[in-house]
Amino acid sequence: MDPKHAYQELVRRGQEIAYLHALGALAGWDQRTYIPRRGHPHRAKALAALTGVLHRKVTDPEFGRLLAAVEDSGLVEDPDVRANVTRWRRDYDRATRVPERLAVELAEAASAGESAWAEKRDRNDWEGFLPFLKRVIELRRAYAEAVGYEEEPYDALLEDYEPGLTAREVERLFAELKPQALDLLARIQASPERPPVEILHRTYPRAAQEAFVLEVLPELGYDLTAGRLDPTLHPFAIRIHPGDVRITTRYFEDFFNPAFFGSVHEAGHAMYEQGLPEEHWGTPLGESVSLGIHESQSRMWENLVGRSRGFWRRFFPRAQARFEALRDVGLEDFVFAVNEVRPSPIRIEADEVTYNLHVLLRFELELALFRGELAPEDLPQAWNERMRAYLGLEPKDPAEGVMQDVHWSGGSFGYFPTYTLGNVYAAQLFAAAERELGPLEERFAEGAFAPLLDWLRAHVHRHGRRYLPAELIERATGEPPTARYLGEYLEAKFGALYRL
Ligand code: ZN
Repeated sequence: MDPKHAYQELVRRGQEIAYLHALGALAGWDQRTYIPRRGHPHRAKALAALTGVLHRKVTDPEFGRLLAAVEDSGLVEDPDVRANVTRWRRDYDRATRVPERLAVELAEAASAGESAWAEKRDRNDWEGFLPFLKRVIELRRAYAEAVGYEEEPYDALLEDYEPGLTAREVERLFAELKPQALDLLARIQASPERPPVEILHRTYPRAAQEAFVLEVLPELGYDLTAGRLDPTLHPFAIRIHPGDVRITTRYFEDFFNPAFFGSVHEAGHAMYEQGLPEEHWGTPLGESVSLGIHESQSRMWENLVGRSRGFWRRFFPRAQARFEALRDVGLEDFVFAVNEVRPSPIRIEADEVTYNLHVLLRFELELALFRGELAPEDLPQAWNERMRAYLGLEPKDPAEGVMQDVHWSGGSFGYFPTYTLGNVYAAQLFAAAERELGPLEERFAEGAFAPLLDWLRAHVHRHGRRYLPAELIERATGEPPTARYLGEYLEAKFGALYRL
């Protein structure tokens, strides 16, 4: 086979797969926004049919033959070709190592587990949920054995979300983070300073919230001519294809934070997708690299930018113009209020300091499960013990404790650590950007967000999947991933707010 033609054919197939994915993404977006209620059963079937078509395409033996033809040729001396072929090979091998029977069982168990979770969680029925959970754990173990790993089964699961990362490496990062977070939280709780959070729970009309979000996001760099904002129940960002990267949010008229900071978070994801190189669409170089890197972008815009004083020096007067509720509020009070630290049993309500403790707890339990050190039956007890130790809280029932998140019910073990990795990467990238560009908050106060976005485009977005996440971080910042910058950032910010 002529290697040049083989490569062209790989690109053609990659683009065809990407366009089919795009239609799936569009149908999925609609399913989570505007679909009429009675449309759900058939939409689920339509998407399952598309998944089947896509699975056959990505595991087609001809794809493997085309890859081999390019791998054995001089074409791989071109760095773009080499990067694409390396990632395609990795994806192809992982996909074809999973026996079809196991893939089907996993999909069925995930779907059964997720519906059981939704139903049993509402009734606080842990015992009823347990058999579904045991089933997905058992199948995930089989999956890990099928795709393979170097040190331990959990590594195979992590590989799906954060390529190249191992459980040991996560343990190392989290060991740096944990004592700092616990110590900072203890000092914050001992501080007499308390933010006036009542101001965030006044009346914020939905239409004004939406208008405000749509005023702010384009200034940050989210391109609304290649995106849109819609309401949903569980907010997300989704790339349909280049030129169409959408975000969603959820409005509460008695709470300012969720729609605003949620939208900035999703716009952070979307700006990453909008920054991927369009000329590589359909190949790995045109794709995002990992969930951790994705989350670093969303968390950076949400927290390091969106919850900074510099940001609000720019936008608070405009917020006051839009919201009656803020007319008698001062900037300092507002900035303190949106940065309140208060332990909650619920992860998605957590602030910047306690969030990582929620993730740590889940990671420790997942790892113990997959190392055979913890039985699924014992999860609630282990959960509650850690909740007491880390956050000083006692979940009142399973819905508020071990059953609060959907992830485990669908077998997504290895996903949680990527949330904290996102925080770690965000702080490290932001520090590197400031070393190059100077203090950024001053720039934000002037409305200059482009320097940061351009830096991220150059050091993160434009690379697609060229480098593994840890390599990408090292190239962008000069150091391998380290929790040091997150620790320093949290200490400086909350030390000042709470006068520690
Ligand atoms: Zn996110």
